[in-house]
Amino acid sequence: MSALMQTYARLPVTFSHGEGVYLYDTEGRRYLDAIAGIAVNGLGHAHPAVTAAIRQQADKLIHTSNLYRIEAQEQLGEALTRVAGMDNCFFGNSGAEANEAAIKLARLYGHQRKIDKPAIVVLEGAFHGRTLATLSATGNRKIQAGFEPLVTGFIRAPRNDIQALRQIAAHNPGVVAILAEPIQGESGVNPLSAEYLQAVREICDKEEWLLMLDEVQTGNGRTGNYFAYQGMDLIPDVVTTAKGLGNGVPIGACMARGAAARVLGAGQHGSTFGGNPLACATALAVLTTITEDGLGDNATAMGQLITDALWADTAAAANIVEIRGRGLMLGVQLKKDCPDLAQRAFDAGLLINVTAGNTIRLLPPLVINTQEAQALAAGVAQLIREA
Ligand SMILES: *Cc1c(COP(=O)(O)O)cnc(C)c1O
Repeated sequence: MSALMQTYARLPVTFSHGEGVYLYDTEGRRYLDAIAGIAVNGLGHAHPAVTAAIRQQADKLIHTSNLYRIEAQEQLGEALTRVAGMDNCFFGNSGAEANEAAIKLARLYGHQRKIDKPAIVVLEGAFHGRTLATLSATGNRKIQAGFEPLVTGFIRAPRNDIQALRQIAAHNPGVVAILAEPIQGESGVNPLSAEYLQAVREICDKEEWLLMLDEVQTGNGRTGNYFAYQGMDLIPDVVTTAKGLGNGVPIGACMARGAAARVLGAGQHGSTFGGNPLACATALAVLTTITEDGLGDNATAMGQLITDALWADTAAAANIVEIRGRGLMLGVQLKKDCPDLAQRAFDAGLLINVTAGNTIRLLPPLVINTQEAQALAAGVAQLIREA
C-alpha cells in the first residue's frame, strides 16, 4: 500500500475472482456486487463472451497504434454509432478522455464559427472526470479545490431550470455547447427531466449550440435504453460514453452527428492506446451481448422489481424519501444521513455505495436475475430498517 499514492480511501478487502453478480474475496467470502466496478461490469464478472473476446483478440494482436487501420475499431465504431444514432466516433481510454474529446470538439466548432472564446454550459452537481478540463466542468468544489487555476470557458447553470438556460443564452453570445449527464451519477443519482432536455434541445437548435450528453455512466444499457436519451424522445449532437462499454477493459468513446461529426480533422486529436484491437474487440462483444440478450429490458424490469420491493417493505419505506433513477441506476434517498450503512452492507456481504451522505446508490450488473434482485432488495431493505 505504501508504494501507492494515497488518492483512495480503500476498504481493507481484496477480491480474487468473480462470477456473474458475485465477487469472492481472498478469504473466500462471497459478496453480491451492487456497484459493479462503478457501473462498469454490466455483464457482471467473468462473463464468457467477454473472456472469449479477450482471449481470441490477445491471441492475434493487442495493439498497433492509430497509424494504421484497425479492423475491430472500425467494426465497433459501426456498431456503436448505429445503436446510438450517431454518425462517427473517436475512441479514447476513459470517461474523462471521452469528455475531453467532446470539449475540444465544441471549442473547435466555436472557432470554426469565428467565436474567439467559446464557452460550454455545464450543470450544478455535474461530474465529468478528473483531468483538468473535466474537473473544471465538474460542479463539485471538493474535486476542484487545490487544482486552480481551473480551465476557463465553462458557464454553470442550475439543473432542470430552462429559464436559467434562456438567461444564459441571452447574455452569452460565446456559448457553443451544453454538456450534461441525463442522470447525474456522482452527485446522488439526479435525473434531468425529459421535458427539460427536450427544451434544451430546442434552445440548442435555435442558438446553434451543440447538445452534448455525458453518458459515461448512463450508457450501455444501464438505464434500460442503450443510451438514456433514447427514452426521452430527443437526439443529441455529441454523446460520450465509457464505463460499461468495455466491461472493465479500458475504453471510452466520443460520438457525433451532423455538423458536429465534421468538426475534428486529421491531426486535431489523438490517443496512442485509444481504440486498440483488444479494447475494441472486447467492447464489440459487450455491445453484442447487451443488445442480443436484451439486457436493457432486463435492467428496466429488475430496477422496477428492486424499487417495488423497497417501497413494499413498510418499515424500510418509512425511512425513504424517494427512489430516483432508471433501470439499474438507482438512488435511494433516506430521511437521515447513513454514514455507516456502506460498511454494514459490506459486513452483510453486499457491495453498495452511499453518495451525497444519505443516498444509497445501486448499480448492479445488468445480468442480475429475479432471484438475485430480490436478494439485493431484501438486503438493502434490512439495512434501511436498521438505519
Ligand atoms: C465516471 C464518470 C466520468 C469519468 O470517467 P473516468 O473513466 O473515471 O475518467 C465522467 N462522467 C461521468 C458521468 C461519470 O460517471
